[in-house]
Amino acid sequence: MDAIRPTHVEINLGMIAQNYDAIRAHVGVAAVMPVVKTNAYGHGIVEVAQHLMKHGATYFGVALLEEAIVLRQAGIAVPILVFGGVATRQIPQFIAHDLMMTASSIDKLRQIDEAAAAAKTKVRVHLKIDSGMERIGVHWYSAEKLLEASLSFAHVEIAGIYSHLANSDAEDLSSAKEQLARFHEALDFYPKRGLKPPQRHIANSGGILQLPESHLDLVRPGIMLYGVYPSREVKQTVTVKPALSWKSQVVFFKVVQPGNPVSYGGTWRSDHPVRVVTVPVGYGDGYFRALSNRGQVIIRGQQHPIVGRVCMDQFMVNLEWGTAYNSDEVTLIGDSISAQDVADWAGTIPYEVLTNINARVPRVFV
Ligand SMILES: *Cc1c(COP(=O)(O)O)cnc(C)c1O
Repeated sequence: MDAIRPTHVEINLGMIAQNYDAIRAHVGVAAVMPVVKTNAYGHGIVEVAQHLMKHGATYFGVALLEEAIVLRQAGIAVPILVFGGVATRQIPQFIAHDLMMTASSIDKLRQIDEAAAAAKTKVRVHLKIDSGMERIGVHWYSAEKLLEASLSFAHVEIAGIYSHLANSDAEDLSSAKEQLARFHEALDFYPKRGLKPPQRHIANSGGILQLPESHLDLVRPGIMLYGVYPSREVKQTVTVKPALSWKSQVVFFKVVQPGNPVSYGGTWRSDHPVRVVTVPVGYGDGYFRALSNRGQVIIRGQQHPIVGRVCMDQFMVNLEWGTAYNSDEVTLIGDSISAQDVADWAGTIPYEVLTNINARVPRVFV
């Protein structure tokens, strides 16, 4: 720690496990698939997955093949579902690492089946139904052919069928409810044929919190696992607590004279002498430039405003008459400042705040 830069992110793995337990208790019989894509929302994919696996997690969900391979190489042996679409040339890799694929066309199922046959194995696939997000998946109104065909591939086991909610963190749940109804319409295929459906899932954090009827057989919590609610308006029906804080230190203190502009572009100046400190974090770390003249940080228990533009590696904070010394702690996220606060100041969502903290910022696990 002493040898590295005075900026780091602190991750409380125990808190993530506690949030996982709270989600499990809330969803009852539904299985829980922790979503650890994008470096576990900035929290460290390997450390988070290993900790959750020791804690009893039985699945993981990621966006990319590469993320799943990282998990396998770290010794994560439980089923892993990759949410993204599968490129044909990636199929052998999925099979080699025993990963569950997402498929939404007969053509893709055929390709997977052929590759699995060549590898003399059977692979597990989750079918993706588009119930209103228009991202990936077969439309709910034309899913029947795919479901029918999916029964006929000897080397493909349909382990699951899923969809994704576009508005589950909103106050108005009519769109989420409509998506759920459409998903059920597609799922009716199974009882109509007298078949037991594979594992059905649609709930992200918003669905877990606000729509109990969306829990089905499995839920896919992402952001709430990290103790952050998906939006300001979402009902907080499960208590989760943030696991990440972002800390730095004061590296420079000065008095800025009236009229002298601070930082690039000279967008801020004071009409009286002020005490200003410099913090060695910038947009090169993923601390948004949009926080220029808008964001706040905590120094000595007090919130103070960022003044002037956030630079690539540093920004300035106005203490007015406050005091601070070199190497005083600066909190960017943590204590009274939530990821949602930072998101509001920067005009974005907490997801982007967390996933934007890049690899240049050391992670410290506690
Ligand atoms: C990212 C993602 C999730 C998790 O969403 P949260 O809103 O973070 O809970 C769940 N399912 C899929 C398919 C995803 O891509």
